[in-house]
Amino acid sequence: MPKTTRRISVPAPPKSAKKSASGLEANPRQPKSLATKSRQAPKKPKAPRRWTAAEVHEAFTRFAKANPEPKGELEHVNPFTLLVAVVLSAQATDAGVNKATRALFAIADTPAKMLALGEESVRDYIKTIGLFRTKAKNVIALSQKLISDFGGQVPSTRAELETLPGAGRKTANVVLNMAFGQPTMAVDTHVFRVGNRTGLAPGETPLAVELGLEKVIPPEFMQHAHHWLILHGRYTCLARKPRCEVCLINDLCRWPEKTVS
Ligand code: SF4
Repeated sequence: MPKTTRRISVPAPPKSAKKSASGLEANPRQPKSLATKSRQAPKKPKAPRRWTAAEVHEAFTRFAKANPEPKGELEHVNPFTLLVAVVLSAQATDAGVNKATRALFAIADTPAKMLALGEESVRDYIKTIGLFRTKAKNVIALSQKLISDFGGQVPSTRAELETLPGAGRKTANVVLNMAFGQPTMAVDTHVFRVGNRTGLAPGETPLAVELGLEKVIPPEFMQHAHHWLILHGRYTCLARKPRCEVCLINDLCRWPEKTVS
C-alpha cells in the first residue's frame, strides 16, 4: 500500500500583525526606507574642528605680543602671603581679597606672625570675604603646619602644598607657577570657560581642562599661559557677554555662538 504524506498546515499570521525585527509593529503603508530612518537616533551636533598646532601657536603668539609679562592680580609680598591670598580667593574676587589682605599682610607676612595674630583677629581682617570663618581657621591651621612640617617655608611641590589646610590643586598650581616659576596650569572659572568655549581644551572638569591645555600649549608659552587665559576670560571672553568683536583670537575660536565670523 503506498505511503501517504500528511500535510500539516500552519496558519499564516494575519498581514496586519507583521512585526519588525525590533519587535515594533511595522506600518505596512510606510515605505521601507522611511520606516528605517524614523527609528534612527537623532544625529549629534558635529564636534567643532580641533585646533591645529599652528593655530595654538598663533593664538599664544598674539597673547604674548599683547602682554609679554602678564601678572596675577592677587597682591602679595612673598610666597607665604601669595599662598594665603589664593586660599582666601576661593569663591571671591581678587579685588575683594586685596582689599582685605592689604592691612592683614602689613602686620602678618610670615606663618609665625599669622599664628601670633590668632584666628579671631584674622577673622576680623577678612570678614568682608565670603566664607571668612572657615578661611580664617584654614589660614591659622596652614601657618601652624608650615611651621611644624616645613620649617616655616612654603613647600615647592604639589604633593606638599596639597597637604595644607584649605589648599587644593588650583592653589598649588598658582603657588608653583607664581612663587616657584613652574609651568603649571591653574584652572579657575575663567580658564575653565575659555578652554571649553574656544575649543582649545574642552572638558567637563577643571582637571580635564588643565590636562587638555597642558597637552596643546607649546612649552615656550606654558609659564604665562595661565595668566593669559585668566585675563582673557576676565576682560574679554566674559561669561555673559563675551566681547568677541575685540577678541584677539576671534578668527581661531571655535565657539559656535561667537558674535563674529
Ligand atoms: S571669539 Fe568670543 S567666545 Fe571666542 S574666545 Fe573670543 S571672546 Fe571668547
